[in-house]
Amino acid sequence: MQRADGPSRGFATRAIHAGEQPDPITRAHTTPIYQTATFSFDTAEEKAAAMEQALAWQGGFFYSRTGNPTTAALEAKLADLEGAEDAVVGASGMAAVASALLAHLDAGDHLVTSNDIFVISRVLLEDDFPRRGIEVTGVDITDLGDVRAAIRPTTRVLFAETLSNPHMKVADIEALAVIAHEAGILLVVDNTFLTPYLLQPLGLGADLVIHSATKYIAGHGDALAGAVAGPKAHIDRVRAMLDVLGSCISPFNAWLVMRGVRTLPMRMDAHSRNAAALAGFLAAHPLVTEVRYPGLASHPDHAVARRLVGDPAGGRYGGMMAVRLRGGHATMNAFANALEVCELAVSLGDVYTLVYPMPKRDNLIRVSVGCEDIDDIVADFAQALDRAARVDGQRGAARPRG
Ligand SMILES: *Cc1c(COP(=O)(O)O)cnc(C)c1O
Repeated sequence: MQRADGPSRGFATRAIHAGEQPDPITRAHTTPIYQTATFSFDTAEEKAAAMEQALAWQGGFFYSRTGNPTTAALEAKLADLEGAEDAVVGASGMAAVASALLAHLDAGDHLVTSNDIFVISRVLLEDDFPRRGIEVTGVDITDLGDVRAAIRPTTRVLFAETLSNPHMKVADIEALAVIAHEAGILLVVDNTFLTPYLLQPLGLGADLVIHSATKYIAGHGDALAGAVAGPKAHIDRVRAMLDVLGSCISPFNAWLVMRGVRTLPMRMDAHSRNAAALAGFLAAHPLVTEVRYPGLASHPDHAVARRLVGDPAGGRYGGMMAVRLRGGHATMNAFANALEVCELAVSLGDVYTLVYPMPKRDNLIRVSVGCEDIDDIVADFAQALDRAARVDGQRGAARPRG
């Protein structure tokens, strides 16, 4: 049978078929969960050869921290989807972020990062890296002059999220790649919010692309996972780092992620459609003061987003947005507490709509719009905003604002 992947096939075909084939021993149709820690050999010579090959990152298996067939199938699929030579999968998005960066930074090196990134990535970069002698400068990633000015002779890496968590800033990957490569440094991007279905940063000049596969790639909120994709020479270093840090994924979680990613295109279409409709509804709502969604013309980076991911058929800008309500903390909590269909939770990229109020971010509310019927999502927001508006009205009556 001909393999159904390869660059000539469409994205949905590759999301289903790439990296997988019927099990060569049993002919099992889906990739089995190779739930084993170790692999056994007939002879000492075979064992030695397998270890040598695997530790040179040339394939083969001897111990599941270093490599496992279920994980390898997922890695091949994700490499295909990102248009990468290779990909490596780890225990979580943070395992991916930490090992991708640590593999390319030593004491004395300098990193330029967007100052709007996922909170734990920020802890790693701002608190942990300086203790290890890695200097870090944060910049406004949408200000290309600011980015250029931050680069020093010791800078090795420019790091950004393609669409930032939580402020929804859009990184101009094409322009950032030019800046990075003029300086001879790597552009490493976290593509969690957009996924390879909407944006393939390697094709725009990025050197490494990272995912919290916990989010859209797995898509069902049932497994933690991370991935890094790029040229094999870079990925070999990340593999070695993941191996010594012991941040391997379990074969079962790799299997869950693989099951999820097969439907990535359908889910991203639904997330994008629903989010566009919800953003339109919220932008027109009197209690809503701010809607940050890259598909809206009012978003400061809309033109960049349109160039990078917009399609003429109506645009697919993903399922993430951030909103603010009139009345601040009290209104935010009243709204959140009144939701009936949408769930209050951290995390994102799930088929369930997840709402995350952030009192420490000036009462920004991050919304990961799920795949439920859009009428149900909008109706839930509408009734919760009505309840919050009553709280806002009471505040107004008790304490008139000038
Ligand atoms: C959640 C997230 C991470 C971390 O991923 P985990 O799987 O939770 O470790 C990294 N980057 C972004 C943009 C995220 O949203």
